[in-house]
Amino acid sequence: MQLKSIEIVGFKSFAEKTKIDFPDGMTGIVGPNGSGKSNIAESIRWVLGEQSAKTLRGSKMFDVIFSGSANRKSQSMAAVTLTLDNSDGYVKTPFSEIKVARKLFRNGDSAYFINEKECRLKDIVNMFMDSGIGQGSLSIISQGNVEAIFNSKPEDRRSIVENVAGVYKYKQQKLSAQHE
Ligand code: ATP
Ligand code: MG
Repeated sequence: MQLKSIEIVGFKSFAEKTKIDFPDGMTGIVGPNGSGKSNIAESIRWVLGEQSAKTLRGSKMFDVIFSGSANRKSQSMAAVTLTLDNSDGYVKTPFSEIKVARKLFRNGDSAYFINEKECRLKDIVNMFMDSGIGQGSLSIISQGNVEAIFNSKPEDRRSIVENVAGVYKYKQQKLSAQHE
């Protein structure tokens, strides 16, 4: 499974439609402070269903919509589309290419899409469950998180490692089996 591209429009500093391609290999995004690097990582979190405005460095979810600048008026909608190559069947779905999209309008309307078909947030969350790239996963580590991981207690750090290694899921299953 591989991230192929992201299309961003009206999200944070991306006023105009911007497409970022991720070719084979490793991609680094560089730029001066405040140029929008973290906004790109946040756009991925957002389209995968992030519900916390605080995690996206805002106070309300509307804060993700481009709010205007000295020479550009604000936008009425934020939209992000993520395209993933799933030809190896890593994510359990019949699609070999997955396009996940989320839109938010200033009037409060909001929608999610899988391959251009409107769906529920739950469908996106379920699709990525156990894939390690969904909501709350450690596939995206923000600047603040690095410090938090270094400063965490050993037992908390252990659970982070277990989570990444995929052991955590089995521990939870064992716990629930012991309760039955
Ligand atoms: P650094 O190198 O300091 O980490 P960065 O490249 O990660 O910087 P970001 O934090 O992604 O930069 O971008 C911050 C910029 O995004 C700021 O200039 C901020 O004004 C702008 N921004 C954030 N939200 C919005 C919004 N809703 N509308 C317009 N601009 C926004
Ligand atoms: Mg940054």
